[in-house]
Parts: sequence; C-alpha cells; structure tokens
Amino acid sequence: MKESYLVLLLGTNLGDRISNLTIAKSKLEEFLGSIEISSKIYQTSAWGKTDQNAFLNQIVVINYTGYCLTALDRILSIEAELGRIRNEKWGERVIDIDILFFGDRIISESRLQVPHPYLHLRNFTLQPLKEIGEQWVHPKLGKTIVELCCECPDTLAVEIFDF
Ligand code: ATP
Ligand code: CA
Ligand code: CA
Repeated sequence: MKESYLVLLLGTNLGDRISNLTIAKSKLEEFLGSIEISSKIYQTSAWGKTDQNAFLNQIVVINYTGYCLTALDRILSIEAELGRIRNEKWGERVIDIDILFFGDRIISESRLQVPHPYLHLRNFTLQPLKEIGEQWVHPKLGKTIVELCCECPDTLAVEIFDF
C-alpha cells in the first residue's frame, strides 16, 4: 500500500446510519484529505457488547501526508461534532472512526496504536479490507489480509448492505 494511505474504519449503529456515514466522510474530506478508495457498506450484528442495534461499517482510504496523531485529533473532533458520547466500552455510537493502517507504519503510543490492535480479530474489519486490499500486508503480523481472514476466529456474519 502507498505510504500516504490512511486507512479508516467507520462504524455507526445509532440514528440514521447512512446519513452518519455520509456526514463523516464529507468531514474527513474537509479536514484530512480526499478519499481515494471506499469499500461497500457492510452490516454486522454488534460485536463485543451484543445487546444493541446492528452496525454499518465502511472503510475509506485517504491520501494523507501529515502526522498520525494530528489525524487522530481531527477524527476525535469529527466524532464529537457528530454527537458521539463515550459511555460504556463498545457501547452504541453515532459514529466511530478507527485508524486501521497508515502506510506500513507501526505506532505504539499511549493514545494511538497503529495498526489497530483488534483489526485481525474482527470480521467486520477484515471483510471490507479484503474487498479493497486483499494483498496488503499487516506490517506487524507479516500476513496478508486474505491470510488474516482465513485465520480470524470471529464468527459474526458480515453482509453487504443494500439500500
Ligand atoms: P476499539 O478500539 O476496540 O475499536 P472503540 O473504537 O469503541 O474501541 P474509542 O472509545 O472510540 O474505542 O477510542 C478510545 C481511544 O482509543 C481513543 O481516544 C484513541 O486515543 C485510542 N486509539 C488507540 N489507537 C487507535 C486507533 N488506531 N484508531 C483510533 N483510536 C485509537
Ligand atoms: Ca472501534
Ligand atoms: Ca474508536
């Protein structure tokens, strides 16, 4: 993958989920840069904390050349602008934006780990990644997305969302 590729996973399970994705993408373009690649939208039952609405997820790839921590700050501001309230861990949310990869960088800071530490354990992340970058190599695990899909223990079904 290109060094400038900031790969983001969007997730939403509250309110008008399609509109939440649309607004988040336009704000990402405004504050971080143009979206070069978008996956389809996928629907998955809630993971981790299962007694809540199903999630829509989409991956977008932005051409970005700044600092990753700056990107995280902008992402957290966009989440707040859309009305994200953090209460319980893995609780319902209007919008969640996670940084999955930034080129092949490995970042381990207290408030930022890249690649995202749960990426290889979640079908709702791996399936859209497979659609757009099945041969990308996870820089820490040294495996392609296809290999990670085959090894993933997650059993939750992920479906393309038609609307
Ligand atoms: P999960 O990380 O398991 O998907 P979550 O997305 O619900 O859970 P949040 O409450 O959105 O967790 O994020 C908590 C913090 O995680 C953020 O404030 C941020 O500092 C930190 N964080 C660490 N690595 C990343 C990353 N790769 N992308 C986004 N946030 C990250
Ligand atoms: Ca998340
Ligand atoms: Ca998050």
